[in-house]
Amino acid sequence: MTAAAAANGTLSAGQVRAIVANVTAHTMGLFAEHEADMVPLLAPMPAADVASAMRTWAALAEDALDEGEPAEPSSRLHLSKSLEGRWRLDGGLDALSGKVLDTALGLAQRPDVEGEPSRSPGERRADALVDICSFFLAHREHPSSSRHRPHVDVIVTLEDLRAGRGGECPDGTPIDGPALASLVCHSTMHRVLMAGSVILDYGTATKTISANLFHAVVVRDRHCRFSGCDRPASWSDVHHVVHAEDGGPTCPSNCVLLCRRHHTRLHRKGWSAELTDDGAFVVTNPDGRVFTSHPPGNRPRPPPELFWATG
Ligand SMILES: [Zn+2]
Ligand SMILES: [Zn+2]
Repeated sequence: MTAAAAANGTLSAGQVRAIVANVTAHTMGLFAEHEADMVPLLAPMPAADVASAMRTWAALAEDALDEGEPAEPSSRLHLSKSLEGRWRLDGGLDALSGKVLDTALGLAQRPDVEGEPSRSPGERRADALVDICSFFLAHREHPSSSRHRPHVDVIVTLEDLRAGRGGECPDGTPIDGPALASLVCHSTMHRVLMAGSVILDYGTATKTISANLFHAVVVRDRHCRFSGCDRPASWSDVHHVVHAEDGGPTCPSNCVLLCRRHHTRLHRKGWSAELTDDGAFVVTNPDGRVFTSHPPGNRPRPPPELFWATG
């Protein structure tokens, strides 16, 4: 139709050049659909206005064609921090990514064990996601040997630590008392002595649990010692049964392996625990119910000598 309009003089050579310059192989089909409406509108315009109108049409045509094509499947995740120090997570995943996450969350979830408050499926998935991330952070640099790389930094005053209050991350994210206490149980401590904003002194980093002690506790406990939980050692921390702040010593007779969830749980109000001479771990929940677990390697005496080999 444009060719016919050019031939019969409805469109000038300048107008035709302005039209042709703005039609590509990609938009040709769409122009063919539109030209019957467009040529009568363009014909009275000066060539410069035709060029301007055609540029607008070309941009709209490209957009319309892009929208019509099937979108490449994409995944998005949004993590945003709220004012109360909580986080909001939402997003969408393509089929394969969703399957990967679903499988990992399914495998990482652990059922509630007797005596602890039961969790909704959503709470179990959230715990599982954090466990997966913690496991990645603890193992990413030296998968075979070093399991406890620092991955969350928390700043706390000595008074707050002793009083069971929380601390905060360098970016201001608050960490509550029980969560901080569970980190302190098995962490690397850096002492910094401040006067206002002046650093007076600082010490070398101290690991609260040495690699040797960790391995000894793993040999005895094998997995989380909360009754009914089988979260493996590589996912667990060492917990001071009598808390270090209360003078509990850092030695095998005061240390047990606990998964992150049960570790934080035992630092919450109302929970108490005891480790007996034969390694039985006795937990009392806020309702006064008692749950006991025995070390899986509770062998007849004399105990075999066990070795930890790192390859
Ligand atoms: Zn602890
Ligand atoms: Zn556990």
